[in-house]
Amino acid sequence: MTPEQILAGIVQGTSAAQRRAMAKAITLLESTRADHRTQADALLTALLPHTGRSLRLGISGVPGVGKSTFIEALGLHLIAQGHRVAVLAIDPSSSVSGGSILGDKTRMEHLSVHESAYIRPSPSSGTLGGVAEKTREAMLVCEAAGYDVVIVETVGVGQSETAVHGMTDMFCLLQLPNAGDDLQAIKKGVMELADLVVINKADIDPDAATRARAQITSSLRLLGMHGNPEHGSAFWQPQVIQMSALHGQGVDSFWAAVSQYRDLQTANGRLGVRRQQQARAWMWERIDAGLKQRFREHPKVREALESTGRAVIEGRLPASTAARQLLELFD
Ligand code: GDP
Repeated sequence: MTPEQILAGIVQGTSAAQRRAMAKAITLLESTRADHRTQADALLTALLPHTGRSLRLGISGVPGVGKSTFIEALGLHLIAQGHRVAVLAIDPSSSVSGGSILGDKTRMEHLSVHESAYIRPSPSSGTLGGVAEKTREAMLVCEAAGYDVVIVETVGVGQSETAVHGMTDMFCLLQLPNAGDDLQAIKKGVMELADLVVINKADIDPDAATRARAQITSSLRLLGMHGNPEHGSAFWQPQVIQMSALHGQGVDSFWAAVSQYRDLQTANGRLGVRRQQQARAWMWERIDAGLKQRFREHPKVREALESTGRAVIEGRLPASTAARQLLELFD
């Protein structure tokens, strides 16, 4: 398939042609070959005018909290309303250990075979930044293909929540109803990223879920005063809802909250601002990563890195001086 055929397939193909073209596009995006990268960049640029019309929803939570059960229930609910749903994943464990937290079981059994759904597992190699980049690009491919809800899922380990928060319109955190879990999220700084908190498995212990809801609501209020400037203001007060994903309970109130958030953020212009900030931050994040890699690969730097590093460790050279010397070599 030529890049032109891929583009045409994604934007105007029949459903089957679209799937083939999307698979080709994403393979191209994930390839490490330089000529593929050039083609992928041209393809993304051509796709760009067709992107941006979806709702980008980030979903995170520790393994076992019920993410796949929830996404399956939500996805089927949305498809029944006429939406087309794409699910992408960022799983940092897959690049660190070779194993994958999100991928090693049959997930979203019904959603994954539905014609109106597209599910893509996490790219499995590279740094978190690299994996996130591929996912962000895959999101654009899905949008150009007309998926109007794109869910980006991640596990609550490492820095992946920040990456997902940085590419979605709304970041939702799934929690278990037992007290203490919310403290973990607060400690890690994840709670203040959340636009919406879902207490899942409310069916197991409804009283605990109600208590958790009250606790998390007050924690979010406090964080709103000191944490995320997006929150605790006129823009949006993060909501906490109870859910039993296994029994499909709470899915409509979840979607009602998402729709309310989206309408509000569209009307007050925050959605556009958030996306602009994300795109700029993304560019700089990638520049930083690219520069660092080029720096390490620079012949003169490579030659001096080992001995300069040793001089720093052994206390013969101040770290800041060492950095300046190495940067001069790079110039
Ligand atoms: P993930 O690792 O976050 O994707 O979690 P899963 O969706 O795989 O769910 C982990 C386990 O919790 C599975 O056995 C689910 O059936 C169960 N589970 C998910 N949601 C609920 C729920 O709302 N109530 C109950 N009782 N169990 C649930």
